[in-house]
Amino acid sequence: MEFHVITLFPEMFEPPLRAGMIGRAIEAGILKVRTHALRQFGLGNYRQVDDTPYGGGSGMVMRPEPIAAAIDAVEAERPGLWKILMTPQGEVFDQALARRLSERPGLMLIAGRYEGIDERVRSMVDQEISIGDYVLSGGELPTMVVIEAVGRLVPGVLGNPESLAEESFADGATLEYPQYTRPEEFRGARVPDILLSGDHAKIRAWREEQARLRTSRRRPDLQNRRKS
Ligand code: SAM
Repeated sequence: MEFHVITLFPEMFEPPLRAGMIGRAIEAGILKVRTHALRQFGLGNYRQVDDTPYGGGSGMVMRPEPIAAAIDAVEAERPGLWKILMTPQGEVFDQALARRLSERPGLMLIAGRYEGIDERVRSMVDQEISIGDYVLSGGELPTMVVIEAVGRLVPGVLGNPESLAEESFADGATLEYPQYTRPEEFRGARVPDILLSGDHAKIRAWREEQARLRTSRRRPDLQNRRKS
């Protein structure tokens, strides 16, 4: 799967894309991530990408022409990408959306900066995504969140794809059961006996019950989501 990112700060993507499972998937050629520096599409000698807001107000707004030129250039190189604008005003990102996006052959992700982006850019994209109800200074970290969440769902990226089925949010409405590893006792807290019993049917039932209890205590909103 391919990710093409339009950003003012391509360098922000380098370390996270080298590390861990995403780094390995890129090395193996299962994922491809290309950054496209928005500055190279800026206007005039200063490669300007922003301007003052019409109507007044604080801060700067990203002009539409450089973003449009960047979108056109990426599309010419790689037609058919699903175009996403990162914005706190977009559809809130969740596991179900990550799964739907992972079925696409490629995404183009546009990271904003400053006070935001000229409203006319919205008509140039297929979807607007927010990673949550808070405001960051730029769309680079939100873009990286989408790449990581979507990328790990692409077949071949995770060593053990079965782990995806039991993870939190796999069914959209349940948190994962508690996990333990060695030692059997740590600072007075013992691993539940049932996990040491070797009785796989009982372990499965215990885990299902724990997942249900944990979800109802920590995230009752998720349970309601399942009912509706
Ligand atoms: N003035 C805008 C508003 O109030 O909606 C916020 C602009 S924010 C400071 C600058 C850029 O960061 C946005 O254009 C977007 O790309 C990115 N950004 C900030 N928070 C985000 C979030 N929660 N989800 C996705 N992108 C976000």
